[in-house]
Order: sequence, then C-alpha cells, then structure tokens
Amino acid sequence: MTIENYEKFLEVINSDLKKIFDYQKEYIFCKEGCSLCCTKGNYPVSDLEADYLMIAYDQLDQDKKQEIKNRVKNIKNSDNFESYVCPFLFDNKCSIYSHRPFVCRSFGILTEDAQGNPSFPFCSAEGLNYSKIYDKEKKHLSYDLLLKYNFSVPPKFFKLSNETMMNLPLAKKLNLDFGHTGKLIEFLLKRGI
Ligand code: SF4
Repeated sequence: MTIENYEKFLEVINSDLKKIFDYQKEYIFCKEGCSLCCTKGNYPVSDLEADYLMIAYDQLDQDKKQEIKNRVKNIKNSDNFESYVCPFLFDNKCSIYSHRPFVCRSFGILTEDAQGNPSFPFCSAEGLNYSKIYDKEKKHLSYDLLLKYNFSVPPKFFKLSNETMMNLPLAKKLNLDFGHTGKLIEFLLKRGI
C-alpha cells in the first residue's frame, strides 16, 4: 500500500515539476544525454525512496547489478561520500530512471531550502541551467545579467528540498512514511550492495 501511495504521490510531483521546468524553460538547458547532475553529489534520499529505487535495481540484469556493486565498493574505498558519480549511471543514462529519487527529479532548478537559503544548480557554473544570469565569482544571481537579457518570466527559487517534499500535505494525506534521510551511498551499503 505504501508503494502504491508513493506512486500516486510521484504522479503529482512529476506533474508539478514539469510545470516548473516549463515555466522556467528559457533558463533550462537539460536535454537527453546530459547527465552532469549525476556525476557530482551525494544524492540525499529517504528510506522510502531507497526502497523504491531498489525495486528497479532488482529488475536489472546481473551484469549491471555486478557493475553497480563494484562501483559502490570503489566509492566506499575512496572514502569520499560527499561527491561521486552515481553508481546507477550507464552511458549517460539513469538505469533506474522511473524509480529515481526526488533529488534527481528536481535537479537543474533554482531552489531554496526550508529556511529560505537560495541555491543554483551546479551546472550553472558549467554554462548550463541559469548560466546566463549566474555570477560565477559571487556564486549567486547577477542582476546586471538579468537586466541584459529580455527573459519573459523572472527566475524563481522553488522550495524543492527533500524536507519540503516530505512535509507536503499530500504526503500526509497519503500516509507516507519517508523514514530517515541520508546519502545514497550509505543506503546502498546498508542494503548490502
Ligand atoms: S539515480 Fe539516476 S538520475 Fe539520480 S543521480 Fe543516479 S543516475 Fe542520476
């Protein structure tokens, strides 16, 4: 029942995120084959999201599963749990795409956390999303650049943290228990991958 309800939740989340990406489309450079956002991060996930992505992992072929295990082992040995290439990334594509966590769905948008602290996606500094209005030195919005371009809608910072997502009224209505939140690699190690 929890998984069924989580899938209902995801339907709404996906639809809302699509509206956000559409609204901000002038600033967005996401396209098929770009996987920059899967190459640098710690990918925070909740227990519920980790359970859900394991459903897709279990359906992968043995070779892929073994490769993922090797990658997880390498990340563990590197002792760097803060920034690594996601072990689910193959040929610039997510191998568990339909079951990817919330953080992956919202990558690329301007966000602010529950306390109102704004942040740009890291691909802004790489000439991608929001790069036209990103001040690389100061690492925030450049009003000079914003005035220079004639965008039809303003850039907007959305409350898209995991914490915000988990506390949406819809999550409560669907009785979702997200459990503990932590780094993807920790969940994978805990599950013996
Ligand atoms: S789970 Fe998929 S979408 Fe998320 S970081 Fe990994 S490869 Fe990318």
